[in-house]
Amino acid sequence: MHHHRVIVVGSGFGGICTGARLREAAIDDFVLLERADAVGGVWRDNTYPGCACDVQSHLYSLSFAPKPDWSRAYAPQAEIRRYLEGCVDRFGLQPHLRLGHEVHEARWDDEAKRWEVETSHGLFTGDVLVAAVGALSDPAIPQLPGLERFAGKAMHSARWDHGYDLRGKRVAVIGTGASANQFLPVIQREVQRLLLFQRTPAWVLPRHDRTIAPALQRIYRAFPPAQRLVRGLVYLTREALAVGFLQPWILRRAQRLATRNIARSIGDPALREKLTPRYRMGCKRILLSDDYYPALAQPNVEVVTDAIREIHAHSIVDAAGTEHEVDCIVFGTGFHVTDLPFARQVRGREGRTLAAAWAGSPKAYLGTTVAGFPNLFLLLGPNTGTGHTSVVTMIESQVDHLLGALRHLDTQNLAAVEPRAEVQADFVREMDRRSEGTVWTSGGCESWYLDRTGRNSTLWPGFTFSFKRRVERFDPADYRGIPERRR
Ligand code: NAP
Repeated sequence: MHHHRVIVVGSGFGGICTGARLREAAIDDFVLLERADAVGGVWRDNTYPGCACDVQSHLYSLSFAPKPDWSRAYAPQAEIRRYLEGCVDRFGLQPHLRLGHEVHEARWDDEAKRWEVETSHGLFTGDVLVAAVGALSDPAIPQLPGLERFAGKAMHSARWDHGYDLRGKRVAVIGTGASANQFLPVIQREVQRLLLFQRTPAWVLPRHDRTIAPALQRIYRAFPPAQRLVRGLVYLTREALAVGFLQPWILRRAQRLATRNIARSIGDPALREKLTPRYRMGCKRILLSDDYYPALAQPNVEVVTDAIREIHAHSIVDAAGTEHEVDCIVFGTGFHVTDLPFARQVRGREGRTLAAAWAGSPKAYLGTTVAGFPNLFLLLGPNTGTGHTSVVTMIESQVDHLLGALRHLDTQNLAAVEPRAEVQADFVREMDRRSEGTVWTSGGCESWYLDRTGRNSTLWPGFTFSFKRRVERFDPADYRGIPERRR
């Protein structure tokens, strides 16, 4: 058995940021438990063709770990993954990493006042548990009738099989989210025939990606304030978008731009009609792409808008009864977000799992801590997602909160803290109130932002600087202190 001051689960942006900041705070007694055999989180798992960040890399990186030589405005996946691996070395996290350690269960021991974490390599105990497991880490594959009978190749975008050659194949893509939007234009060039099964079209704006000239990279390296300035400008431009989410009329102009984007790329009026969303822009994630529509206009592509009725061994039958022969199905069908599997593995003070406490509608104080779950800190927990900017900024604020809590535990000689139930309930009410009238709840779409009760339990309904102001400071008045166990 191993005991540590802090156990961090996950080694994506959240885990690495936590590790780096713990080391900076001279807290060295921690481990990063990672179920995979490498670090990187979603940037390790998503290797689909064309995978790249849709937030500019100057911003989509840790504020305290700039990378002056990003190759493109929107860095490709492999470069972001290398960046994260570089951060592990840069911040001396290697000795803290426990790769191939899958967490089976984490339970709060109220006697010992500590977390017991069962892993594939035995038991770990920790004073504090940080769940940096990511909100988009567990792929969701819909239970389509007959799927188990499909005899061709089936894969999810986040588990791409690069050993499977798509050339000359008839490929069905299911889904039109941010992932499909990126891989579809790349695979369209290789496959014999591509069928896009579209349930809901996305609003897509031009991305305007570009390479960052080596001369500019040298300037950023020699003169870091220049990169900080660019980061600041990107940050402010993105924050301006948040106004649009909260005041939907502002997004109307962007919606006109997106409509023109369809008209410019798609000549066929029937296809244009299919691709034009019927909900207000912003209700689902706004996608950025320069090649999605041009790819859909190619002669080897068909957009099927009839629902999928069933799957046969070599075909997909749609609701209109048409049978489409396919060799491969690619699921761009997203992730378990509001039904995060990790929530079923964490048991709090009363033995209840987080999933049971949430009952389908995740709730946490400041998206970070949960009443009944002492010394548990969630990174990118409920209401911390953003539809407009980099979630890395949210993670950094949450890690500040964690460090504040650790200082408080030390100075007050406490075993644990947990948010007061009434403080958490007030916060949740505030989230609900502030989500009312936003485009996410009133835009006329169904999205993974809303949980099965219809609440927005994923996105922060505001600016990221207001999140930072609220979350970075740990206020002991909001918490119940649990004294050290008498020895
Ligand atoms: P997603 O946005 O959840 O999209 C899933 C898609 O699958 C939707 O179009 C959905 O249709 C469709 N779908 C699900 N079940 C279906 C069914 N039974 N039949 C037909 N269609 C079905 O997933 P994602 O594209 O993987 O993106 C998830 C999130 O990951 C994004 O929103 C974003 O936050 C993140 N992401 C980020 C980047 C980046 O560049 N930073 C890239 C990729 C992903 P409906 O719309 O009708 O529900």
